[in-house]
Amino acid sequence: MKLLNEQDKLNYKNVWVLAEFTPEGDVHGVSFELLGVAREIASDLGCEVWAVAPVSEITPASDALIRYGADKILAIEDERFKYFNDELECNVLDRLVRKYRPEILLGAATSAGRALMPRLASKLHCGLTADCTELNTDRETGELLQTRPAFGGNIMATIRSGNFRPQMATIRPKVMKALRADYARKGSIIRETVENGDSVNIKEVIEAVTDIQNSVNLNGANVIVSGGRAMKGPEGFKLIERLAERLGGAVGASRAAVDNGWISYPHQVGQTGQTVQADLYIACGISGQIQHLIGMQSCKTIVAIDTDDTTPMMQMADIAIKGDLFEVIPEIIKILEKKGINKGEN
Ligand SMILES: Cc1cc2nc3c(=O)[nH]c(=O)nc-3n(C[C@H](O)[C@H](O)[C@H](O)COP(=O)(O)OP(=O)(O)OC[C@H]3O[C@@H](n4cnc5c(N)ncnc54)[C@H](O)[C@@H]3O)c2cc1C
Repeated sequence: MKLLNEQDKLNYKNVWVLAEFTPEGDVHGVSFELLGVAREIASDLGCEVWAVAPVSEITPASDALIRYGADKILAIEDERFKYFNDELECNVLDRLVRKYRPEILLGAATSAGRALMPRLASKLHCGLTADCTELNTDRETGELLQTRPAFGGNIMATIRSGNFRPQMATIRPKVMKALRADYARKGSIIRETVENGDSVNIKEVIEAVTDIQNSVNLNGANVIVSGGRAMKGPEGFKLIERLAERLGGAVGASRAAVDNGWISYPHQVGQTGQTVQADLYIACGISGQIQHLIGMQSCKTIVAIDTDDTTPMMQMADIAIKGDLFEVIPEIIKILEKKGINKGEN
């Protein structure tokens, strides 16, 4: 691994965001969140934001990358990018990073990003800070400050990888805020192609299947009602489901509930589950250990129901209801019924 000196570092410029696409060619929402934070970093460093777009075909939908903050789109069009292809993408990016020399390369901590970014970091002989929850720049050195939970989430560590370029990090979905779309923004497209030397024949995608059973839309939910260990079993979760249904929301859970087998893993909120950004998060019998808070602390309004008002969740909640949830939740449902509130309407 070669340490770069100050002179070498000057050869690296711009912030790259690795954009993700659906097979239909639409930009994945997390890419807009990454562009938002990339813009802040670029304005600190006085450089451009490039969105890297490995796609089967650049469509007008890709213009959204400009509207949400990119100055340039680095388009790599190839049929094989219709479905995520980490080996091919990694080889192409390895070549393009060496050609254009970005100072910073950001990817999403999605399953695609988690497969691709470590592979690429290893090829480029760079470090990678995974699952960041905050990114800043050092005002004096311009280095990227990459903050993420460490030691099982008990501390937040800020990591620098200033001696290597690019400085690489992945960011969890729903942690950063996307900018508002700016329809007046202008940008340009740089076109690159897959070259013979990039090709790999290790695998071929024959069919892509959506797992409907496990697709719990916590990420897109405006209201989430979550249950913890206090639910005591799958029966207890029926109460959570009733409240969530009344409010037109989704059901979340703590890891304790998932580990006990009361509800399936896709419902888990937290460090090793999903990160959510709902308008309303109701935590029922969840003590609020740091590993859970990391996944829901950006929700706008947090309501906690617990018999113990000293727990971290009760302390951080906007509305803390001290009481037995088996009494409190039916009361809330009764009030909603009385007011005619159904599926969050009214
Ligand atoms: C590496 C690592 C990763 C982790 N990742 C996650 C993660 O992604 N998500 C996650 O959630 N956890 C995660 N954890 C586990 C986390 O540390 C906690 O153990 C877990 O969140 C606790 O779940 P809980 O709040 O439901 O249970 P508890 O901490 O046991 O809290 C139960 C709460 O219910 C209250 N209560 C009990 N009875 C009632 C009642 N009748 N009415 C009202 N309140 C009642 C209690 O007062 C208590 O506050 C992780 C841990 C590690 C080490």
